[in-house]
Amino acid sequence: MGLFGRKQQDPASSQVAQLSGALKNKELQAEILIQSITDGIIATDTAGHIVLINKAAGLLSEWSPEEALGLDARLIVKLIADEKTSELISDADHPFSSVLTKLQPETVASILTSRNNKHIYVSLVISPVVNPKDNTLVGIVAVIRDVSKERTEEQRSADFISTASHEMRTPVAAIEGYLALALNDKVSKIDAKAREYLEKAHASTQHLGQLFQDLLTSAKAEDGRLTSHPVVTEMGAYLEQLVEDMKFSAEKKGLHVEFLQGTQSTQKPDSPLAGGGAVGRTIAPLFYANIDPDRMREVITNLFDNAVKYTEGGTIRVGITGNDEVVQLHVADSGAGIPEEDIPHLFQKFYRVDNSATRSIGGTGLGLFICAAIVKLYNGTIWAESKLGEGSTFYINLPRLTSQQAAHLQTQQSAAPPAQV
Ligand code: ADP
Repeated sequence: MGLFGRKQQDPASSQVAQLSGALKNKELQAEILIQSITDGIIATDTAGHIVLINKAAGLLSEWSPEEALGLDARLIVKLIADEKTSELISDADHPFSSVLTKLQPETVASILTSRNNKHIYVSLVISPVVNPKDNTLVGIVAVIRDVSKERTEEQRSADFISTASHEMRTPVAAIEGYLALALNDKVSKIDAKAREYLEKAHASTQHLGQLFQDLLTSAKAEDGRLTSHPVVTEMGAYLEQLVEDMKFSAEKKGLHVEFLQGTQSTQKPDSPLAGGGAVGRTIAPLFYANIDPDRMREVITNLFDNAVKYTEGGTIRVGITGNDEVVQLHVADSGAGIPEEDIPHLFQKFYRVDNSATRSIGGTGLGLFICAAIVKLYNGTIWAESKLGEGSTFYINLPRLTSQQAAHLQTQQSAAPPAQV
């Protein structure tokens, strides 16, 4: 009767056999499932060595799963830091490393370079794997998705927006020009009714021109084509001059404008630094930053124009302060303020707060999106704080250069050939 017979006679060993059969089945099921998933899956141990890799991850990285097992995952999932230079992200900066050390999940959009140097746009979702029994880290699991098709689609629509807005700006500028001529007493004679209609047409055309300009800039910001020629700039004098140039538009509306040059603060760079505080000081600190003055002007002008647009009366305060690491600029108004729930969305494309003010005041909802993209170019941050009925303050933090760093960079910049426009 042999083994079969003995098994039937021994209930305990038959249970063991059933159990291990089921387990085997479960393992098999898990294996089949993981191998069938079309997204790449890689799991590692705590040192980042691959303990599991599915077929899709093998296809993306062009490593066979057998070869990849046991190797450092950062060697298989090589990511590019800069598309233009194809420079690889170092092991220390690799998202696998940061998930292994910070134990926080991360979602990253990046470019994977395969074994044969093929570049693939990917989205990575990386999570730490923790043993539920004792809460210790076992490793990480990464889901890698090829998003090249989506990227191509996005690129196509960005190209379309860019070309269309570029082409449409010319006829709109022509219409605006002719309307301005029609409204000019010295050139044409029109009656009051015609003037009223033409003025409305002129305002709408200006709005349309601004919309095309904003669309073009935001399309460029999205695909990294925003030109920028940073130079060392002393932000205090720069901002003071800008306020001088801008304040006319606010005063025309009856608003008061103030410029505040703050003193150095000892607060942490990420905490909002208090504005003002210049009373009694005669020497203002020099706040150097490496920025493109034209690009930064777009940002400040946008914040200032918004402050004017959304404030009916009172004061607009523009200020600068900082600490050793940060230069902080702010534009504060005494306007209607922004509801708390809208604040996290302000810098999204086309986002406008839905209230009677925005319904009657023209705007594209692209201004703050563009501001955020420009500030990012200089490794800065931008955010808003607001209280309904009291006003809003928009802050910008930029990395501050010491006077020595500024002087050194200035020498390099003056030695460099003129930038290509
Ligand atoms: P818009 O062209 O609509 O002004 P922005 O991107 O510049 O677009 O601003 C987005 C929205 O943020 C605005 O529609 C407005 O609702 C709100 N907002 C921006 N700045 C202010 C401000 N200073 N006071 C109140 N609301 C503001």
